[in-house]
Amino acid sequence: MALAAGLRRKVRGLSEAEFRERFSTEEACREALFTMRWGEGLTCPRCGSTSFCQLTTRQLFQCNRCKKQLRLTAGTVFQDTKLPLVTWFAAIYHLTQSKGGISSIELGRRLGVKQPTAWLVKHKLMRAMATREAAKPKLEGRIEIDDAYLGGERSGGKRGRGAAGKQPFVAAVETTADRKPRRLRRTVVKGFRKKEVEKIAKRDLAAGSNVVSDGLSCWRAVEGAGCRHFPINTGCGKQAASWAPFKWVNTTLGNIKTAIAGTYHHVSAKHAQSYLSSFAYRFNRRYQLDTIVERLAWAAACTMPQPYRIITADA
Ligand SMILES: [Zn+2]
Repeated sequence: MALAAGLRRKVRGLSEAEFRERFSTEEACREALFTMRWGEGLTCPRCGSTSFCQLTTRQLFQCNRCKKQLRLTAGTVFQDTKLPLVTWFAAIYHLTQSKGGISSIELGRRLGVKQPTAWLVKHKLMRAMATREAAKPKLEGRIEIDDAYLGGERSGGKRGRGAAGKQPFVAAVETTADRKPRRLRRTVVKGFRKKEVEKIAKRDLAAGSNVVSDGLSCWRAVEGAGCRHFPINTGCGKQAASWAPFKWVNTTLGNIKTAIAGTYHHVSAKHAQSYLSSFAYRFNRRYQLDTIVERLAWAAACTMPQPYRIITADA
């Protein structure tokens, strides 16, 4: 039984050939997006009519009663794009299938677009991932929680807490009783203060959960969110670095650095959250990699437009 369960869980990704089979033409991508948005039937938001005609094939629709026009991409992350949907779907494929994330330079090369264009596409899609992650239920049951920094190393005995120029975040992982990771959450914080930890615990951790952490005093604040707290004296050095949550933090951090490399030396809090959420998004769907393209396309179709000025505005 255990073996069968193990095999079932080993889900492979979507091969490039399989992806091309599904989304290689503009028509196929439009059809997919149409089904996601209006598969149950298109209803006019102005007059309630369900009778439409197509002005442009699967792109622009007009209500037969009041003549209101609806664009397939309007009100989604794809709104006002100059890129064909086929490029967007390819971007979704590359963002979700590459385990280490992907830099905008590499993404641009694969899509055949300039780096700034790839950067914007990537950030819009990361916003869709973050929005989706934020809507997921709180972590529950057994949770390991840890402090981490984006832009800093976390190896050996030096904890590097509060290092300048680094973006602190809370790394939380819901595990099975035998400590296997189930779901991750990564939340940018200003610092590891009790008030901040309590706020995040109330938002991200279900009351009644058992939270395991190291001895850092701020973690006690999870009790304010109705969680039980189990501090573990991890000591320092090798033993601390190999403690399970540290391992998960370090694995994903290496990937994030790859994705950022070559673009930014400093990552703002807002972009840091976007990067962290996108990695959590992928990790949390690691057993669904064969359907993750459709899932993210759907998330992008359900997320409000994310224009350049919003992506680049200061948090
Ligand atoms: Zn109408």
